[in-house]
Amino acid sequence: MRRQRRTKIVATLGPASSDRAAIAALFTAGADVFRINMSHTPHDRMRELMRVIRDIEQEHGRPIAALVDLQGPKLRIGAFKDDAVSLAADAHFVLDADPTPGDVDRVYLPHPEILTALRPGHTLLLDDGKIRLSVLEASPERAVTRVVVGGRLSARKGVSVPDAVLALSAMTRKDHSDLEAALDAGADWIALSFVQRPEDIAEAKKIARGRASVMAKMEKPQAVERLDEIIDAADALMVARGDLGVEMPLEKVPGLQKQMTRAARRAGKPVVVATQMLESMISSPVPTRAEVSDVATAIYEGTDAVMLSAESASGQYPVEAVATMDRIAMEVETDANYRAIIDAQRSEPEATGADAIAAAARGIAETLDLNAVVCWTFSGATALRVARERPRSPIMSISPNVSAGRKLALVWGVHSVVAEDARDQDDMVNRACRIAFREGLAQVGQRIIIVAGVPFRTPGATNMVRIAVVSSAAGEPD
Ligand code: PEP
Repeated sequence: MRRQRRTKIVATLGPASSDRAAIAALFTAGADVFRINMSHTPHDRMRELMRVIRDIEQEHGRPIAALVDLQGPKLRIGAFKDDAVSLAADAHFVLDADPTPGDVDRVYLPHPEILTALRPGHTLLLDDGKIRLSVLEASPERAVTRVVVGGRLSARKGVSVPDAVLALSAMTRKDHSDLEAALDAGADWIALSFVQRPEDIAEAKKIARGRASVMAKMEKPQAVERLDEIIDAADALMVARGDLGVEMPLEKVPGLQKQMTRAARRAGKPVVVATQMLESMISSPVPTRAEVSDVATAIYEGTDAVMLSAESASGQYPVEAVATMDRIAMEVETDANYRAIIDAQRSEPEATGADAIAAAARGIAETLDLNAVVCWTFSGATALRVARERPRSPIMSISPNVSAGRKLALVWGVHSVVAEDARDQDDMVNRACRIAFREGLAQVGQRIIIVAGVPFRTPGATNMVRIAVVSSAAGEPD
């Protein structure tokens, strides 16, 4: 099975997509990557979902990426004496280190890191930004605030601190235990929530030790300020527009999405645009025009993947939501303007052999109208650099490394194939032609270009391009 589009689809699993039949239906409809959200998934359930994903993978003979999303340090206020309080605009409200239940004047804030980081003038956002407070006085024991936007506030609602870097790791004790469980279960990608700084990524990578790649969720203004360093440290980026739109004015989110997508493309790191893409499809079989436009905008920018959250996890129309994204991607990618926009955003190759070869392979494939750019890759790095070029010709990666093959399922344009390693260069060329033929990328007599690093399995050794004609032998049995 080969997708006819370049943009990948990430579908979050949940109660609406919990059994094998439902997950298989999402895959058939177009999901390339399944996301397991650890905020809502116990370990045994995560392991069960991983087993189902591997089962479907086996049945279809296609690598599928499993993305395990860690909850991160979700900060919350304490409890109230009553169910809830009503905060009036302009009233004073105190957040303090006293664990007794709160009232209309004060509440416990069980995070000393916030109290020590606050300064007068900082903003605090409660309950997904519905309530806005401005800090008047701050000390390690208490912060006195003025209510800017009031409303009803109940126990344990979330707190966001957009103006200060908190002395908190992006990984809580729960995240550490979830990460170990996800690595044990064979997750391909780990998404890290509420990243503030590049060191947060380094911490997760140190634990993952290459077993899974690490995706930085960009949802805090502090992270946006250090975007380039975070891209450098991470293996991929997620534009997590939900929390980003809480911590920053909503009207800033579209610009930031463009900035982040372009920066990730420049760096050759995959980028996922996430959250509320087809939100109305949680309860409606058709999306709104605005949602279709939103998905299309991300695709025109050349994002690697678009993501479904509640639409596929708990909505009434999960398969329809995936099929809708699939149709939007197919339509946008064949639109006359798509190529011009994608090409306009292409960055110059970096001064490395791998990039020079990736750029040359794209140029040759386009000049000669070749049927595919085939990347023979062990780690997946060659395919990532070729994908960075966003070539017109289809990309196929061939890797003997199943883990690399799965990770590449997230990457723009890459049709990932896992196959036995080649004995030598001639064997590689013959096998690349056979696989291109088998996968429907080239017919007998058509040409492909092969990009590889020789000797094989040497990371960063991309140093070879070869044009090959698919011969009649390609169709013969192995
Ligand atoms: C987001 O905030 O956009 C996001 C993807 O994170 P989560 O769904 O984990 O809250």
